Amino acid sequence: MNAEAAERLAMENALRRAVEHQEFYLHYQPQFDLKLGGMIGAEVLLRWHSQEWGTVPPSRFVPILEDLGLISNVGEWLLRQACDSYLSLRDQLSPDFVIAVNLSGRQFKGGMLATNLRHLLSETGMPARNLELEITETMLMEDTELATLTLRELSQMGINLAIDDFGTGYSSLSYLKQFPLNVLKIDSSFIRDVTHDQEDAAIVDAILAMSASLNLTVVAEGVETAEQLAYLQQRHCHRAQGYYLGRPVDKVGFTELVKQQIRA
Ligand code: C2E
Ligand code: CA
Ligand code: CA
Repeated sequence: MNAEAAERLAMENALRRAVEHQEFYLHYQPQFDLKLGGMIGAEVLLRWHSQEWGTVPPSRFVPILEDLGLISNVGEWLLRQACDSYLSLRDQLSPDFVIAVNLSGRQFKGGMLATNLRHLLSETGMPARNLELEITETMLMEDTELATLTLRELSQMGINLAIDDFGTGYSSLSYLKQFPLNVLKIDSSFIRDVTHDQEDAAIVDAILAMSASLNLTVVAEGVETAEQLAYLQQRHCHRAQGYYLGRPVDKVGFTELVKQQIRA
């Protein structure tokens, strides 16, 4: 217990320093269009290399940044980086390409998210239609009123809104009507066994059928095998990402991937 508390305290201090000294960097994981085959987007993933612990997974350090109230600071930096990365490669990307950024619930609080994003887009020249924000079901349910107002404003600006880890959080389907959403990301836990578990396959099929009638784009996450990809293609899933298609890579690797796409 004491060792755990001490480690947590050490990590908190290290993260405070990391924010000050910008020790974070980004990885980009490609998303592919399952009908046309090309790269159609990328999810931006936060990375931290600590001198003490090496590369720490975001599942470990993002919750601590949230508790410390530092996630908005890092999140703002990340959004700017994501826009800059998109803009530097824009000429080589499809006009429909979206750069997807994960939001933390904390970034909603205070009600300044839409205003901040409006400034960011106009400062950088980032087109709203090429930006996608990933939020979780839980985030929507924490402060429904603020979420409704914020998402409406973001949607009016033309920003795409995606539900991350769909099917794992608070599953009241009424929110699909209430919020102006564009994309559902099927959680990787349903994809893992989709080719040999009838229940997972039934859930994936149901999400695809529902999304088609609600006019939502579906992204499958965590695609690791050719069989999973074939299943999703056959069921007309729109987009997919996963180790089989492409692992998260740094900016240099991502730029190389974009070049390869053009050559292909
Ligand atoms: P997520 O948003 O669901 O991100 C997808 C995670 O799945 C990433 O892990 C990615 O590397 C991993 N992944 C991608 N393809 C595969 C695959 O085929 N198989 C398997 N097993 N895993 C795959 P990562 O980068 O460790 O991120 C974990 C979580 O940390 C993310 O889950 C997200 O909740 C959070 N996170 C990451 N970056 C950010 C960020 O910038 N802001 C916030 N608020 N949260 C972030
Ligand atoms: Ca995500
Ligand atoms: Ca996810």
